Amino acid sequence: MTQPTRLPTPETAFSLCAGISGNGGQVAAKRNEQRNRQTVDVTFMAANKSKLLKPLRILIALLLCGLAIPLAWMIVMRLEGEMPKFQLESPVHTIGTSYTLKGWATDQKSGLRRVWIAILHQGKERVLLDQTFPSKGFLRGGLVQKQLVSLEIKADAFGLSDGDALLRTAVWDYSYRGWGAGNRIYAEQKILIDTQPPVIDVLTRTHNLNQGGAGLAIYRISEPGTVNGVQVADRFFPGYSGFFSDPALYIAFFAIPYDKGPGSELSVRAADPAGNTCQTGLAYHINPRHFKQDTLTISDAFLKAKMPEFEHALNIENTSASLINKFIAVNRELRQASNRTLIDACKKCEAKQYWDGPFLRLPRSMRKAGFADHRKYLYNGITVDEQVHLGIDLASTARSPVPAANNGRVVFAEYLGIYGKTVVLNHGFGLFSMYGHLSRIEVTRDQVVSRGDAIGFTGTTGLAGGDHLHYAMIVGHTFVNPVEWWDPAWIKHNVTDKLKKIVTSQVQSSGVHGSANNH
Ligand SMILES: [Zn+2]
Repeated sequence: MTQPTRLPTPETAFSLCAGISGNGGQVAAKRNEQRNRQTVDVTFMAANKSKLLKPLRILIALLLCGLAIPLAWMIVMRLEGEMPKFQLESPVHTIGTSYTLKGWATDQKSGLRRVWIAILHQGKERVLLDQTFPSKGFLRGGLVQKQLVSLEIKADAFGLSDGDALLRTAVWDYSYRGWGAGNRIYAEQKILIDTQPPVIDVLTRTHNLNQGGAGLAIYRISEPGTVNGVQVADRFFPGYSGFFSDPALYIAFFAIPYDKGPGSELSVRAADPAGNTCQTGLAYHINPRHFKQDTLTISDAFLKAKMPEFEHALNIENTSASLINKFIAVNRELRQASNRTLIDACKKCEAKQYWDGPFLRLPRSMRKAGFADHRKYLYNGITVDEQVHLGIDLASTARSPVPAANNGRVVFAEYLGIYGKTVVLNHGFGLFSMYGHLSRIEVTRDQVVSRGDAIGFTGTTGLAGGDHLHYAMIVGHTFVNPVEWWDPAWIKHNVTDKLKKIVTSQVQSSGVHGSANNH
């Protein structure tokens, strides 16, 4: 008989063993016992091995899955192909003696690895920046995703001379792409290296100025595209080309603020697109002016009549505040806000002269208050506020028609805080006139008006005790004394004669009939 070839189970092996032990013959029994014991050992081991292998395999499989999936995911993620970016804060066309190049390097996925900037000039590449960024580890990419690159380029230090050049930029990220080198974005652009500052030639020889008044400077600038103008202490009054046929000639109306005396410093400044700047002095004399000290008594009747008009404009938490406190808020905060709005309306300048000849004063009117009057406000015998009056108050008969002081374009025609119903006219090249406290406005924004056209009627809107016109003039962003602009002699000496002289010299130098473009 042949033994079954299949491996017995531990249970069947045990029963076989028990059956043999029941036979006679000790030797045979021992042999059988020995053989059977070996069989049992083998079958036990095999059975146990099989029993252990299954969970082990599962465990290994689980471990492999647990490691392999994130690993694969990480590899896929870290093999991303999104390019890093380099964005300049403002376009670069020209680089001067000193130029600060600013830009943002970004890489949202793998993070930044390296930023490199160079200039190719006269066949030689000069590396200006080569910056590397730290990594968070092999699997985790770069530590920095966004970096402001601010690089000061000094032409001298880098041996750059004037002429055409190429600006080269490259940024790498921490992706595994490129056999581990990362994604790289590379760009190059043409630039001009220009280290020569513009030259200013001031053509107006004298500037006889009044504190609180206006002036005109005419000058030539050697290169186009400059930002230029007259600097008066901390205020800058831009100059414009376009008045003369020669585009290199600029005119700049400027103001000596009422609070700037004869010691104020004046100069003409220009900056070219490369950032090269120059500054030149001009001959000037500032006549000091002493402005009137005035006292205004605030009555309860005035407060009761006027304060309701400002209720909506007042940002007072306690609406039950006393009338005098409301007045103080109007006189301080609303005055400031109204002046800011006015100056904002005068920001848009036109390089065109609308006006011609002296400005019109409100006909048949009495002057009630002057420019830069320093006012004290008395209430029940106590000074409650102090302000400076930045226009001239003119009173005629109630609701008199108000003429446009000169040709211009309406830039503002609406209610404005302490000035009530207000019109502002743009006369070109930074000069504006303003009309406040009107009872009616007869013009709309952008309308072009002629000298003498009725733009509205006098009234008491805003912070006005009686019917009058608040007339003001603005040069750039500064209130100036309107008296100068009503005076034909002042306009002749300080404006028109200067302009005519340049036109004449242009004609003489060109030998042809030249003229001003807008006059
Ligand atoms: Zn006034």
